[in-house]
Amino acid sequence: MNKFFKPRIVVSKCLGFAACRYNGLIISSPFVRKLKDHVDFVPVCPELEIGLGVPRDPVRIVETKGRRSLYQPATGRDVTAEMNAFAGIFLNGLGPVDGFLLKTRSPSCGINDVKVYPGSFKGTAPVTGKSSGFFGGLALELYPGRAIEDEGRLENAAIREHFLTRIFALAGLRDTLNSGPVKKLVEFHSSRKLQLMAYNQKEMRVLGKLVARQNELKWTELAAGYQAHFEQALGRTPRPRSHLNVLMHALGYFKDELTPAEKKYFLEQLDLLGRDKIPLSTAATLIGAWVARFQDKYLGLQTYFEPYPRELVDISDTGRGRMV
Ligand code: SF4
Repeated sequence: MNKFFKPRIVVSKCLGFAACRYNGLIISSPFVRKLKDHVDFVPVCPELEIGLGVPRDPVRIVETKGRRSLYQPATGRDVTAEMNAFAGIFLNGLGPVDGFLLKTRSPSCGINDVKVYPGSFKGTAPVTGKSSGFFGGLALELYPGRAIEDEGRLENAAIREHFLTRIFALAGLRDTLNSGPVKKLVEFHSSRKLQLMAYNQKEMRVLGKLVARQNELKWTELAAGYQAHFEQALGRTPRPRSHLNVLMHALGYFKDELTPAEKKYFLEQLDLLGRDKIPLSTAATLIGAWVARFQDKYLGLQTYFEPYPRELVDISDTGRGRMV
């Protein structure tokens, strides 16, 4: 049985699903290709949806007297109202979703780093600022707890690791909360303890207290509270020192079994990890091997050592898991 529940991810359609860019091209994204077997993608092209055809004259964000609009310089069309209307209807009617993977720097899909131009220039104009796109910006506003990234940022190994960890964790929680009984939530929480310890110890304690009140809270109250604090906990990439703490904590489970030489070797690996000389996965793999060898049930359940399907680990990327 697949132990990972499939995340549901909204994706910009031009990232490998349709040749819908303004110039009639499609973007080949190896990361999206790899993800296709593991997530349920919801492809969307907001510019096609508002009736801009393919090919089309490009649109851009322009700012006049403090008001930003989506403008097509070649035709003089302002499509702000159409885009806002589509984005609102689509995003509000989306149903369950765990994340968004959007095209970088697009005036529609971008989540940041989108160029803003002054007035209604047709040709080259100086860029006056950066913003999110109209669709991407509304997604950020309506889904603050979900994993929202653009394909450009996901070239960074640490951001990609964080994105994958979050979408599979959020999907796992969605499945747990949908299937109901408190027992499943308790199991979910137990299996995430090390992950939460690495991500956010304050929220980990809040979540622990919530689960402990399972008999006094209504299920809806418990589920909503858990979801809000879990999203908060996974909101930011863990600090490098947090990973060292978690791995030291895990080492403690084997203190009576390991030889002094094994412990010394592991501590040397942690030192290298702390100086960013080896990836996190190298040190975590050592613990994983001891979990298998000594059959430690508690650590064996921890998603920290395998937060998403192994097939998604990009071994060609030497920066993967680096503690940045
Ligand atoms: S970036 Fe968004 S709006 Fe532009 S082509 Fe891709 S999906 Fe369509």
